[in-house]
Amino acid sequence: MFEYAPSPESVRPQIKEHYGLFIDGEFGDAEDGAVFKSINPSTEEALFTVAEAGEADVRLAVTAARRAQETVWGPMSGTERGKYLFRIARLLQERAREFAVAESIDNGKPIKETRDFDVPTAAQHFFYHAGWADKLAYAGLGADPRPLGVIGQVIPWNFPLLMLSWKIAPALACGNTVVLKPAETTPLTALMFAELCQEADLPPGVINILPGAGATGAALVDSPVDKVAFTGSTAVGRAIAKSIAGSKKKLTLELGGKAANIVFDDAPIDQAVEGIVNGIFFNQGHVCCAGSRLLVQESVADDVLERLKARVATLRVGDPLDKNTDIGAINSAEQLSRIQALTETGAGEGAEVWQPACDLPERGFWFRPTVFTGVQQSMRIAKEEIFGPVLSVLTFRTPDEAIAKANNTPYGLSAGVWTEKGSKILWAAERLRAGVVWANTFNQFDAASPFGGLKESGYGREGGRQGLEAYLDV
Ligand code: NDP
Repeated sequence: MFEYAPSPESVRPQIKEHYGLFIDGEFGDAEDGAVFKSINPSTEEALFTVAEAGEADVRLAVTAARRAQETVWGPMSGTERGKYLFRIARLLQERAREFAVAESIDNGKPIKETRDFDVPTAAQHFFYHAGWADKLAYAGLGADPRPLGVIGQVIPWNFPLLMLSWKIAPALACGNTVVLKPAETTPLTALMFAELCQEADLPPGVINILPGAGATGAALVDSPVDKVAFTGSTAVGRAIAKSIAGSKKKLTLELGGKAANIVFDDAPIDQAVEGIVNGIFFNQGHVCCAGSRLLVQESVADDVLERLKARVATLRVGDPLDKNTDIGAINSAEQLSRIQALTETGAGEGAEVWQPACDLPERGFWFRPTVFTGVQQSMRIAKEEIFGPVLSVLTFRTPDEAIAKANNTPYGLSAGVWTEKGSKILWAAERLRAGVVWANTFNQFDAASPFGGLKESGYGREGGRQGLEAYLDV
């Protein structure tokens, strides 16, 4: 393997020492003065302090959002709303590098991913939905679809800015206003986004950002919003569904996954290996639709595994701000211990574990890319979402067995199929119980393409024409 000289990112964003809550167009401290710290997971250094929203702050934010929806944003024409969305998209593009670096610092993910994927895709969601704002009557959802009102949104830490964009762009395009809680460990780009809303002259109250922990999220869910949109774990999604059952609030949930990535014996093997690596090691495996279960046809399993291990051994783990880095830091100490605990059960239950030899930085939260072979369907590493760079490999003999194993999960978010035969792709896609099926590729996203789950992966779609439905009274 070639030795690469370090290639550190030179742009440094202006990170403030302290951030407030963003309510009604202004930053301010929490009513009770609570604050918490955000740390850099690749160094464990404190980055900044941030106000922590409590119930009183949630009430203020929802009131501001209600007033803005009823007096300004709701009555505004779609054409005018679209202009604001375009402006936000352009500002995101102008400040793309700064956002990318800030996201890498706060989250731990490699700069090449934030620079080439997270931030451009976030801007794309605003561009795409700007186009819909004055065409809602042509979305096939009725002649005069109305906004729902105030939307409460709770997002996770794995794609902080991108999840914000997936949620905020369609909500605004449809005439709703928003109160959003970013994840406790990754509030930075949401707060920078709030500054960007000020720069775009977005009317006060249209967007409100409330950093905090689970209790803040729960208070937002319980507040008088008209709809809750949540992305995160199935356990919290289930608790939210219970807590709003019986109310008039609408709900969309984008939850966990344990996707099967199926490699048939006629697949282009080198291409499939790239897809397997992208499927599970992209974003340290902190991806709800990660291809965390590799199902490979027995006749090509040895060949696939040999080439896969050779490829994984070339992945570079380390400084997220080095442009050569493939795998960055794990987002938090808690997530690292969850990954370690589940990985230990794999070895304990008899699976064979393989990790490439690679040095890890001394400070920060790190986990080597890991491949488990000899995995049985009953093992926890085959059933539970590990949410880390850990691949479980199972084999199959016939296409029917592949489908049966792929569907043997309570989740249903995504799946991948690798074969040179188009007919086999269609045959498999028809049978796989997953919201998204990728063929001869993996982890491809587009603002125009709806994304969402079946079964315990949640309900509702985000993106595309279908994603508008979740934000309209139809
Ligand atoms: P959570 O589901 O706890 O977090 C998602 C968001 O919900 C965060 O903003 C969180 O706040 C908030 N939240 C937590 N509790 C509540 C509550 N009772 N009511 C309302 N909002 C709440 O995921 P974790 O970050 O704890 O990760 C745990 C596991 O969940 C991971 O190991 C992974 O398996 C899975 N996960 C799946 C994701 C996906 O996209 N499918 C995304 C993230 C996690 P806070 O940040 O303070 O916890």
